Amino acid sequence: MKIAVLPGDGIGTEIVAEAVKVLQALDLQFEMEMALVGGAAYDAYGHPLPDATLQLARQADAVLFGAVGDWKYDTLDRPLRPEQAILGLRKNLGLFANFRPAICYEQLVGASSLKPELIGGLDILIIRELTGDIYFGQPRGRRVATDGLFPGAEEAFDTMRYSRPEIERIAHVAFQAARKRSHRVTSVDKANVLETFQFWKDVVSDIGKQYPDVALDHMYVDNAAMQLVREPKKFDVVVTGNMFGDILSDEAAMLTGSIGMLPSASLNASNQGLYEPSHGSAPDIAGKGIANPLATILSAAMMLRYSLNQEAAAQRIEAAVKTVLNQGLRTADIFSAGMTRVGTVEMGAAVVKALT
Ligand code: NAD
Repeated sequence: MKIAVLPGDGIGTEIVAEAVKVLQALDLQFEMEMALVGGAAYDAYGHPLPDATLQLARQADAVLFGAVGDWKYDTLDRPLRPEQAILGLRKNLGLFANFRPAICYEQLVGASSLKPELIGGLDILIIRELTGDIYFGQPRGRRVATDGLFPGAEEAFDTMRYSRPEIERIAHVAFQAARKRSHRVTSVDKANVLETFQFWKDVVSDIGKQYPDVALDHMYVDNAAMQLVREPKKFDVVVTGNMFGDILSDEAAMLTGSIGMLPSASLNASNQGLYEPSHGSAPDIAGKGIANPLATILSAAMMLRYSLNQEAAAQRIEAAVKTVLNQGLRTADIFSAGMTRVGTVEMGAAVVKALT
């Protein structure tokens, strides 16, 4: 089992170090190889996704990724910015299915901005299509408008598009995931306004006929955003496009109290995957030793489950995380009165200890 370890920038290096310790504490044989990505790679090689890093990721069974980005790169040309590394990896590895679970741990119910009864026991799975939609559609650019409200004015444009096979394959992923959960899928679209999402809705409905044991319903994205804070537990598996998924999964993340707790997986058709926390490189707290490593540690658990076929080891990590929360250990982002405040390294060490 070969794992490419790409810590990236900011807190990425701190949190990935803890996840690596947790993986090393399992009695499994991994080959782990590290490479630079994002701003760190730009500083060293002049590109956020150097060829050597991409080759390593391609050859690995899975990629454990930290986070990339820092405000100091904001003035670079877009193709050289750290965040382009993630888009490049997604595209090159064909990672079209993004799994973002939003689980509210009972011990952290108080950390959410929502009432405990709304989120206690919350366990939803957002499946976001990751390689299509307006983020990748061509043409895009800037030009002088020849029509519209202000002809002659400068304007910018992007193209929203989805092909039938792109929608079909993400729909299959969602229905199959629902079969392992409560057999319910909500497909989120904007079919009332956008032709792309009327097509999405039609194709998801067609695929749904192959899964008669899974209940499918459809919801407009504006309503879904509202229902997620009104009655989040009514969702189970949510499947949606790239842009709506981007926004809804961050919204769902915050239901659970802290983005520092949430893992994610991005998979291709052969279950090769990239595993990363849902948050970014948090330059505001980088180097302070206070970042929460649990999202990355839980991402490593997802990696064991989905790409490395080690379900028992995945469950061991997840159980260890629950143990440290039960022990009252909290990083600053999830701290509340009466708990024990710990830093990144102490939290990682506590998870390692709870494994054994
Ligand atoms: P962010 O997720 O990095 O941080 C948002 C807030 O959450 C900050 O206050 C941060 O301190 C806090 N936070 C995030 N992770 C935490 C953790 N593990 N423990 C404790 N607190 C945590 O988002 P941002 O500030 O909007 O973006 C910062 C940089 O990260 C930008 O350059 C952005 O482009 C990049 N980014 C990268 C990724 C990625 O690598 N996949 C994703 C999102 C943002």
